[in-house]
Amino acid sequence: MKSDLKIENGWLADTKRVISPHFSPRPDTNDISLLVIHYISLPPEQFGDDFIDRFFEGTLDPNLHPYFEEIKDLRVSAHCLINRKGEITQYVNFNDMAWHAGVSNFQGREKCNEFSIGIELEGSNEQPFTELQYQSLAKLTQTIQQSYPKIVKDRIVGHCDIAPERKIDPGQYFDWDYYKGLL
Ligand SMILES: [Zn+2]
Repeated sequence: MKSDLKIENGWLADTKRVISPHFSPRPDTNDISLLVIHYISLPPEQFGDDFIDRFFEGTLDPNLHPYFEEIKDLRVSAHCLINRKGEITQYVNFNDMAWHAGVSNFQGREKCNEFSIGIELEGSNEQPFTELQYQSLAKLTQTIQQSYPKIVKDRIVGHCDIAPERKIDPGQYFDWDYYKGLL
């Protein structure tokens, strides 16, 4: 599959951007070597609103839903979100550290945020992801790999793989074989 996305100075060109304040500098920008796949839906199991943008931006109104009240003190982000239509939004520069992994460990190395890129799929553990999401994720992955070649195929993992006691995403419906076959 040919990629028509482009990364310039850590940002996807011509792609929707919502700036998140939830990031920090990486200890070493030459160390970007892991891709972490997640899912998110806000409120849980609901798709299509802009609540994820507001959440990562730190402006989600806790009065709009009881669940938003529960998460109102969380300061998290991801580099990118792919919504159900396959549309990409970028929140944090790839050369900075997004706050997506939390307490984590990849092959004995902790603090995965420091050396990883985090991608959220709009989804849940109850519903399959869309074909548009797989196509878009594959394209985005290839684009990221061109700029960050240390992210080889076996260094693409789920949040569940680096935080197995806490996390199950991207969940039972994420088709790893299909995704990796598209790369
Ligand atoms: Zn996650």
